[in-house]
Amino acid sequence: MLNIDLHCHSNISDGLLPPAEVAARAHANGVHVWALTDHDEVAGVAQARAAAADLGMRYVAGVEISVTYANQTVHIVGLNIDETDETLLAGLAQTRSGRERRARLIGDELARAGIPDAFEGAARFVGNRDLISRTHFARHLIEQGVCADTSEVFRRFLVQGKPGYVPHRWAGLSEAIGWIRGAGGSPVLAHPGRYKYDPLAFSALLDDFKEAGGIGIEVVTGSHTPDQYAEYAQVARRYGLLASRGSDFHGPGESRVELGTLPPLPDNLLPVWHDWQL
Ligand code: AMP
Ligand code: MN
Ligand code: MN
Ligand code: MN
Repeated sequence: MLNIDLHCHSNISDGLLPPAEVAARAHANGVHVWALTDHDEVAGVAQARAAAADLGMRYVAGVEISVTYANQTVHIVGLNIDETDETLLAGLAQTRSGRERRARLIGDELARAGIPDAFEGAARFVGNRDLISRTHFARHLIEQGVCADTSEVFRRFLVQGKPGYVPHRWAGLSEAIGWIRGAGGSPVLAHPGRYKYDPLAFSALLDDFKEAGGIGIEVVTGSHTPDQYAEYAQVARRYGLLASRGSDFHGPGESRVELGTLPPLPDNLLPVWHDWQL
């Protein structure tokens, strides 16, 4: 059976390793079909594709777009995109554009909470000036001994109601799905188990996602518990969505789940790769 991992990050966004090292790690872990899905950016695609070709690993061009839907952040993965599509590139540039200003405001908020110079601290961890994220602040807070690990950071800081939270408006749902479809790609709703919608709002999200051209949903992801694999397998069947699998690996020692090590998709699901030439 093919080992397929369609969600992970390099230091082009908030991962720790360069694209070629992520490729090597995926290959070493037995991945046969691999997608790099950096946040709001496709600058790693060329390196990732070349590294995968050298390793004889099938590569799928990907991206993970940040979206604001009903006052929450939702992530949409795009798979098999044409990463040179002009409309997609303009949309991603627009989505990235507020990040530095937001990061400076996060720094100001943390300073008010007694943690000075966090913007400068986070910036030291950035691999791409254009893509400073909360993950980089998390690395700084851990390095400073403020928190022990990433999950403690996202419990105590940077989230709604906690110090260092700055609301931000990302791309629109149908806009992001349109960019992916326009670039020939398949839009997949990332890690649905992470969102905090009530059941009515979650079903509205799924309806709107499908209506806008979304076709898949992550069922087996590093963000889900085994119970959630079953729960979101049911959601995929009920809504007629294709199922996807991805580790959401960000880096050694930082991610709970390694590349290519998740269980296979549950039975009776149509995988997002069902009509790919593998
Ligand atoms: P941003 O796009 O700047 O809002 O940062 C979002 C990133 O923060 C996500 O892609 C994850 O890598 C990380 N993140 C968010 N929430 C958590 C969490 N609870 N635990 C670990 N990492 C998280
Ligand atoms: Mn991330
Ligand atoms: Mn995500
Ligand atoms: Mn991700």
